[in-house]
Amino acid sequence: MYHKVSEQYEWGLTTTTPRQFKAQMLALQHLGFSFSRIEDYSPDLNQVLITFDDGYSCIKEYAAPILEEVGGVATVFAITDYVGQKNSWDYFPEDKQITHMSWSELRELHDKGWEIGSHGKSHRRLINMSSKNVHDELATSKKRIEDEMGSEVTTFCPPFNAWNSDLLSQIEYVGYTRVAISYPLTGLPKWSGEFIPRLGVYLHDVMPLFLAKIMTNPLSPIEVLQQQMINMAGDGKILESWLKPQ
Ligand SMILES: [Zn+2]
Repeated sequence: MYHKVSEQYEWGLTTTTPRQFKAQMLALQHLGFSFSRIEDYSPDLNQVLITFDDGYSCIKEYAAPILEEVGGVATVFAITDYVGQKNSWDYFPEDKQITHMSWSELRELHDKGWEIGSHGKSHRRLINMSSKNVHDELATSKKRIEDEMGSEVTTFCPPFNAWNSDLLSQIEYVGYTRVAISYPLTGLPKWSGEFIPRLGVYLHDVMPLFLAKIMTNPLSPIEVLQQQMINMAGDGKILESWLKPQ
């Protein structure tokens, strides 16, 4: 699970540099993995699923050419209200805000074989929200991406990795068959759909840490803690909550 692949430094730590990303993709290729979309994943093949949350422009600029070099495709989770817009949903000083891919950029990736999944309409936490609003986030984003791409959207990625069994029922009701979530996985409920568990890769993941991350099962306690903290923080959001006390 990646967010941004860029040279631009930001304090949320969810950026990987293009150089790091290239080394990581080459390492995966060297280890014999092939790169699949979530939709085409087969547990019998030695596949790795690369995903990008939020759909930033830097993914098309830096990550897509690198994946092309290794013959790989990936999945992007787009936030439909913010396609082509700055990431004002997250807390960043205005001059540090970055842009999400436009519909035509997403289509270009889709035409190369990438999967475009949904990350909702507005990147809001969907638990503790009225079921009408949740339905709107799930259904409107699905339909919009389907209309723009001309193919079915089957995977939903809950913003901030915030999900519970009520949300899963709604995700299923709207017609998604898969949900992309993050480690650590504690007590997965019964669900008719498929869970796609993901490991976040971050700026401080130098090569030995990256390899340990992908080759170690179960995760080390430090890795579990790191994944929990980054899920909780969600980029600038934790700063926003300090800066704007309720
Ligand atoms: Zn996100």
